[in-house]
Amino acid sequence: MLFLNKKQSLIGLTSSQMAKRLASFNQPEYRAEQIYKWVHHHQVPSFEEMSNIPKSFRRELEQHFIIGTLEMAGRKVSIDGTIKYLWQLPDAKRIESVFIPESTRTTLCISSQVGCALGCHFCATARMGFLRNLTAGEIVEQVIRIRRDTGRQITNMVFMGMGEPFLNYNRVIRASKILADPQGLAISAKKITISTVGVVPRILQFTEEKQPFSLAISLHAASQTLRRQIMPIAKKFPLDEIMESAHNYTQAHQRKRITFEYVLMAGVNDSPNQARALIKLLSPLRCKLNLIPYNNTGLGFTKPQESRQQQFLSEMQSAPFAVTLRKNRGNDIEAACGQLMVKSSENEKARYLKSSPLKKGVET
Ligand code: SAH
Repeated sequence: MLFLNKKQSLIGLTSSQMAKRLASFNQPEYRAEQIYKWVHHHQVPSFEEMSNIPKSFRRELEQHFIIGTLEMAGRKVSIDGTIKYLWQLPDAKRIESVFIPESTRTTLCISSQVGCALGCHFCATARMGFLRNLTAGEIVEQVIRIRRDTGRQITNMVFMGMGEPFLNYNRVIRASKILADPQGLAISAKKITISTVGVVPRILQFTEEKQPFSLAISLHAASQTLRRQIMPIAKKFPLDEIMESAHNYTQAHQRKRITFEYVLMAGVNDSPNQARALIKLLSPLRCKLNLIPYNNTGLGFTKPQESRQQQFLSEMQSAPFAVTLRKNRGNDIEAACGQLMVKSSENEKARYLKSSPLKKGVET
């Protein structure tokens, strides 16, 4: 018999939503705040651990609610310490998130949708198509579960996993508020970066609302013609409109820079001419540029040779903005940018074997 869990998850409710939800329980008003904190700040896995909540109410809570819905369906550890998680959602759909430890910071790359509707020709996630939006709870829970699993503080968060965060705007913003809330996960708002392909109306909304989170735009081409060839969505959101919305953003946020991501693909967008066009395009903006050598996906694109990457980088020396060439992390476990794709064959599932948190190396 199919068992459907009807209990509501408490992860992802803001404190005021929690208060509303608990209002009928005949408890003092401050309970909601306490429970919100247990769930999001202390990230307890069970009601049992909520030590300042009366036992009888803990039992009552247990009858009506659960703390989270994600099931860990896999966990792969890279030789560089990167961990890729596979999560099963209540409707059996699957998403991935990636934990990237570095000497000075710990970054989490999380998903905002199951699959993706954008169809960028070079991206593995696009091959899944779009299945559904994640709830705010499913977004926040990726962070909670990884914190619990690794025991590490998360200093940086990027919405660069599966999906287009700005096509799931409200839930992504609600989740980000909980992640940044000092009573919640207490991650610094400016260290939470939302990456968009350039959904112009949402960039404008994000600006207007003065959201405290950081903004990244996936550019990948300095001309509309090339962008349309590799990113079909460019037809709907042309480059000049994206640049205008970016201007608008930097004007409204005097102290903020926009990050542009530019995936270097051999023979596509890696020529010195294209580097110069990129400088011209971005120079009027307060921004930084993150160059990302293409990660292999088997989709017919490749990263430029090392010397060609360096040539592009040196061409960028004259840019009036900061330029970085990103190191690839987690390549061996397909956890790098654009490699996230939940494969459904049994064979593939078998590769996501669980491993102990301390064990390093690729799991087979
Ligand atoms: N949809 C959002 C969030 C995804 S972020 C966005 O487009 O910004 C994932 C980033 O990795 C995007 O910049 C995406 O274009 C890039 N990417 C996709 N495939 C890649 C690959 N194979 N190698 C490197 N980066 C890739």
